[in-house]
Amino acid sequence: MQTLDNPNLTANNSPAFDTTIHRRKTRPVQVGNVTIGGGYPVVVQSMINEDTLDIDGSVAAIRRLHEIGCEIVRVTVPSMAHAKALAEIKQKLAETYQPVPLVADVHHNGMKIALEVAKHVDKVRINPGLYVFEKPTGDRTEYTQAEFDEIGAKIRETLEPLVISLRDQGKAMRIGVNHGSLAERMLFTYGDTPEGMVESALEFIKICESLDFYNIVISLKASRVPVMLAAYRLMVKRMDELGMEYPLHLGVTEAGDGEYGRIKSTAGIGTLLAEGIGDTIRVSLTEAPEKEIPVCYSILQALGLRKTMVEYVACPSCGRTLFNLEEVLHKVREATKHLTGLDIAVMGCIVNGPGEMADADYGYVGKQSGYIALYRGREEIKRVPEDRGVEELINLIKTDGRWVDP
Ligand code: SF4
Repeated sequence: MQTLDNPNLTANNSPAFDTTIHRRKTRPVQVGNVTIGGGYPVVVQSMINEDTLDIDGSVAAIRRLHEIGCEIVRVTVPSMAHAKALAEIKQKLAETYQPVPLVADVHHNGMKIALEVAKHVDKVRINPGLYVFEKPTGDRTEYTQAEFDEIGAKIRETLEPLVISLRDQGKAMRIGVNHGSLAERMLFTYGDTPEGMVESALEFIKICESLDFYNIVISLKASRVPVMLAAYRLMVKRMDELGMEYPLHLGVTEAGDGEYGRIKSTAGIGTLLAEGIGDTIRVSLTEAPEKEIPVCYSILQALGLRKTMVEYVACPSCGRTLFNLEEVLHKVREATKHLTGLDIAVMGCIVNGPGEMADADYGYVGKQSGYIALYRGREEIKRVPEDRGVEELINLIKTDGRWVDP
């Protein structure tokens, strides 16, 4: 047998294109019973809108999200009373449902709140731009190194107790930088840039590391996709240089709603995932949080990173199409959408259809007027009248023992 010196070249010396996404190596970070990074599947997150002082409303909202596949649920804790309420929320979830991995968002000068909530949740998210909040001073134009370091020392002092608490409890922290809320001294030193975002995160990471705390997840969100892409890519570059392997939480902030909100989120999150960057994602829509979960799964499924639904391959239809493709695809989907793991193709004609089914498990292909052909892989199995097409497709899947009742 002929062997190749370079395994990336095929026999005729053309490059063998690699179609797998090689995920960046990251350290595993445990959040309740879910692991972010470390080669585990990309984790889906969202956030409830309820006021956490509303215990029952919050428990119900967390449960609703978890039941549809949200693996980590975030809540916001604007006050000490909210932080304390998390103890009850956590307990009620365990009693009436099951433990759900929870993250608490802490904002302005939130050290005391963070320390309280760290007792009740699995991960605390802090925003470096707000954790020690320096009020912007109107007349200031720069920070001297001494002033910069002085604030750095204050941050260290404020962050230390939280880091120690999380470290000792085996819990996690997200250092969540936002382009829109960089600290003033970072803005003056690095500008409103991806570099400023990355340096903000690194400053906090270094404090954590000096205290032997490594259960860290990083995010660098922005509402503009090119800024967000540049920030995450630069973070990866800097972490590589520094030998850091922290997992990344991806998101586009304020993506909006509807179709554009989904496309914008996909442009940002999907692009990075395709480069192997990203261990957990949140799609932020100005809609009910339940609407975010299907978008997350669609992005992951389209990239082949997770398989949570049937993969449908369908041609766009053209003059050769022998049936109403949109209607048939809808019917096929309704009948088979619960068969997670299968790939099913619906193609308009046998001229190009079978060749373009992309290795689907089953194919439904227009054969001649009034008739369709059913395929198993690339093999045509039978020709059936169009009005019995869906029924016969189900029969074929049943014959193969791959059918389950919905
Ligand atoms: S598979 Fe056939 S019907 Fe569908 S777009 Fe291609 S040529 Fe047209």
